[in-house]
Amino acid sequence: MAKAKKYVYFFGAGKADGRADMKELLGGKGANLAEMVNLKMPVPPGFTITTEVCTYYYAHGRKFPKELEGQVRAAVARVEKIMGKKFGDPADPLLLSCRSGARASMPGMMETVLNIGLTGATIPGMIALTGNPRFVWDAYRRLIMMYSDVVMEKAAGVEPAEDMGIRRQLERLMDQAKRQAGAKADTDLSAEDLQALCGRFRDKVREVLGKPFPDDPREQLWGAVGAVFQSWNGKRAVSYRRIEGIPDWWGTAVNVQAMVFGNMGDDSATGVAFTRNPATGENAFFGEWLTNAQGEDVVAGIRTPNPLNVATKSEHTQHLASLEEAMPAVYKPLVAIRNKLDSHYRDMQDIEFTIERGVLWMLQTRTGKRTGTAALRMAVEMMRERLISKETAVARVTPAQLDELLHRILDPKAEKGATVLAKGLPAGPGGAAGRLVFTAADAVAWTERGEPVVLCREETNPEDVEGMRAAAAILTARGGMTSHAALVARGWGKCCVVGAGALHVDAQARTVAAGGRTLREGDWVSLNGSRGVVYLDRLPTVDPDPENPLLVEFLAACDKVRRLGVRANADSPKDAAVARTFGAEGIGLLRTEHMFYGEGSDQPLFLLRKMILSKTPAERRAACAELFPHVKADIKGTLAAMDGLPVTIRLLDPPLHEFVPQSEEKQRELAQSLGIGLGDVRKRAEALHESNPMMGHRGVRLGVTYPEVSEMQIRAVLEAAAELRAEGKKALPEIMIPVTCTVEELKDQQALIGKVKAEVMQKFNLRKLDFLVGTMIEIPRAALTAGRMAEAAEFFSFGTNDLTQMCFGFSRDDIGAFMPDYLARKVLPADPFQSLDQEGVGELIKVGIERGRATRPKLKVGICGEHGGDPASIHFCHLAGMDYVSCSPFRVPIARLSAAQIAVKDAPRKKAGKGRA
Ligand code: ADP
Ligand code: MG
Ligand code: MG
Repeated sequence: MAKAKKYVYFFGAGKADGRADMKELLGGKGANLAEMVNLKMPVPPGFTITTEVCTYYYAHGRKFPKELEGQVRAAVARVEKIMGKKFGDPADPLLLSCRSGARASMPGMMETVLNIGLTGATIPGMIALTGNPRFVWDAYRRLIMMYSDVVMEKAAGVEPAEDMGIRRQLERLMDQAKRQAGAKADTDLSAEDLQALCGRFRDKVREVLGKPFPDDPREQLWGAVGAVFQSWNGKRAVSYRRIEGIPDWWGTAVNVQAMVFGNMGDDSATGVAFTRNPATGENAFFGEWLTNAQGEDVVAGIRTPNPLNVATKSEHTQHLASLEEAMPAVYKPLVAIRNKLDSHYRDMQDIEFTIERGVLWMLQTRTGKRTGTAALRMAVEMMRERLISKETAVARVTPAQLDELLHRILDPKAEKGATVLAKGLPAGPGGAAGRLVFTAADAVAWTERGEPVVLCREETNPEDVEGMRAAAAILTARGGMTSHAALVARGWGKCCVVGAGALHVDAQARTVAAGGRTLREGDWVSLNGSRGVVYLDRLPTVDPDPENPLLVEFLAACDKVRRLGVRANADSPKDAAVARTFGAEGIGLLRTEHMFYGEGSDQPLFLLRKMILSKTPAERRAACAELFPHVKADIKGTLAAMDGLPVTIRLLDPPLHEFVPQSEEKQRELAQSLGIGLGDVRKRAEALHESNPMMGHRGVRLGVTYPEVSEMQIRAVLEAAAELRAEGKKALPEIMIPVTCTVEELKDQQALIGKVKAEVMQKFNLRKLDFLVGTMIEIPRAALTAGRMAEAAEFFSFGTNDLTQMCFGFSRDDIGAFMPDYLARKVLPADPFQSLDQEGVGELIKVGIERGRATRPKLKVGICGEHGGDPASIHFCHLAGMDYVSCSPFRVPIARLSAAQIAVKDAPRKKAGKGRA
């Protein structure tokens, strides 16, 4: 007979069945508990029930595999042996915790039950054993609270009315007990208070849930195990998975572990810590702890936690004793463990520990969530410490985190003069302004209406995640750096201030009061999440510093790793300069028409209009001649700014009627200048009208019908380059012909280019003039006939905006009418104008590249649509073998990172050699 399947993995007393790399089977928590045991760290013994059991459970009508019971019984016996106690033994009972643990951490999303095994029979034994009745009754009231909520209500599918959940009802009983006893904190309740409270708790449970609280240890254990598996499909967990993109089929593991007690008195404590600072990335041990507390007390914001050490005390925690001062004998080994974990995992760890009567126990380690600032600093510093390679460093910062660093902060000037409403802890980075809302549902609704909001809560809980996601920023009155709000905001890189203790939040009345002021729903506040300050009013925000040295060093590592070149789409010398500071290696798209819009465009636009409304070639040539110096100066400025780097200049692209004057005054001016009547101007303008201008007379089609217009532009480019050469600069223009669909169009324009080239070379007495001629591939036919196009084109630039439009037949400007429904009903997985449609448009690109390179192996290929700045699209471009991507200047760092990350991922497949920008 085959050996029974192993469903249970044991850990304890220096030996574990599992390892850190077994997360799929054991979940993150179980795998890392095993790893800590293997590292000989003090971990209470226990065992992990695998994620396969979860899958089995859901596949078999919520039943466990039959081998499970025996394996669990054997594992409990091993824990009993190590602990020298027996589960359910009235004289010396072992208590257990039952903890969920998915592959990816889902903070607070799933359930944990502590103190399992306390019953009418074992309580007296525990009291006799510890001589601490207060502790035992405290542990029991916690068990009743957690178990009735998790097992008897949630897992049983009971749906209580608003605010009538069993946990809330028990909390109210507890508040009542505190009031009666005149107790401020939970810790002020006496043993007698707690014992009486436990009685009331049990009555309440029976009254509300119609069942007695189970008094059998085994029933408690199996109830809890089942509930953890059930919690995988709980509302909160499902909603969190949807946001984070965690697949439903992963399942959770269950960890059963011997209890250790942080609530045995003042020599006991519990804490949460990070091996490095999760907000700043500083290489300093950072954390929070509470004496005489258990489990979630630190993160739940019930009491303000104490700082872990002297060095990390803040303005608000100055007066509180650190663990370093209060329990140096425990702090020291904890620091040793911190050092070992940090170097063993080679990444910042988020740890949980408990101190039972002066003895340290480790309860969890996992890779910690961090802000973008911290991710960057830790990646660079660990690379410097040679703890990680540059490839690993590059993979450590997500595009979203990098984006955070490139994101807005409150304008420091405005911040100086602003009125501080309250101060709290800097839990999520950057700055944001928004209008106050007090419930998650309002945050969602207001945001949908286009109102930026700050979600203000006493403290957040996992039920608030959708609202937290929607809000521009999150603000809480309670909780520390490890509170739920802080953890979630940090993971998302969202601006967040927690524990602003001066705030009195009244969610019912929708007001928040602080320092004698009362703000209402809809009032503006501004948050500095990097410093933890809340201001009155709406403060302006500004862009951050691209020359931050850590950022420069990190992006330099990305540049070493990536193969794809990164260029920017820029139309002016100013944009070009910005693009260069962000690290662009060239311009992938300069739209010549840009000079006819905005500042300083009056004169060129007037001349362009004159040209457009010309009737005869002679008139048009004259108008072109007048326009020429403007076009040349404009192009020359950008070529000069990009000295030494390639610049792709696209010939005039939009349909001409876009430039026709609408106002009578402008029309009259034009008529005068052309020496014709106003009626004539109108008639000529009408003649340019098209019913479908996006597919009308535009791009290369203009060049074919008005060769003098192309000629003027080509001459402007080549003369600008020649002049720069004479000035000792290196101009590398690439002339790009837009909206082509046949090679003949290219050949037509190339004849012009050849002619102008010869003339310019003669004029400047040059023997050589370097430039490339290529085309934008933005019409499906051009992609399909790429083999022919490459006969004439030296480069392709995929214009994926138009290519998407034409491939789908979706008018870019009209998708608003149907795209939301397409996305909501999952007709399309994503908006193809935001993330490249790899299945369709991507196929055209692949075919285009393949056929183009078959004709011209050295064909240079890039992308210049919006997709050039989208990480997933950049990955596609890398895999499709492009030479570069081009995106907006501010996206260039994201593109450098994304290009590096795909190169790292792709490395085993292909050896990375640098592409041509
Ligand atoms: P989460 O995934 O929400 O962090 P955990 O399973 O880590 O849930 O448990 C919640 C709290 O209970 C944590 O603070 C943890 O340290 C504590 N805890 C869990 N198991 C034990 C145990 N065996 N002894 C003492 N405390 C425990
Ligand atoms: Mg935990
Ligand atoms: Mg186009």
